[in-house]
Amino acid sequence: MAIREAVICDECDALKREVNHWWRGYLRNDGSLYLLPWDSIPVLGSDASTKSEVHLCGSNCALRWVSAQMAVIAKTPEGGCIHA
Ligand SMILES: [Zn+2]
Repeated sequence: MAIREAVICDECDALKREVNHWWRGYLRNDGSLYLLPWDSIPVLGSDASTKSEVHLCGSNCALRWVSAQMAVIAKTPEGGCIHA
């Protein structure tokens, strides 16, 4: 019996199952964000310039994560689409 490490969505705590529409999000030290399909297995995770890797269960959580990171990086209000 294969033992798999449980993967939990970093945004909503959903447990990853066989169905795969998951994404990996990477925040790098230079402030850039990467969003990659789960199966693409990038080497970014072991890169020293990668600050963190997050697991995202779908587009909703991926977009929420991106939005939150953008708010932190740019120090702007989250979701802020400001039409002045
Ligand atoms: Zn989620």
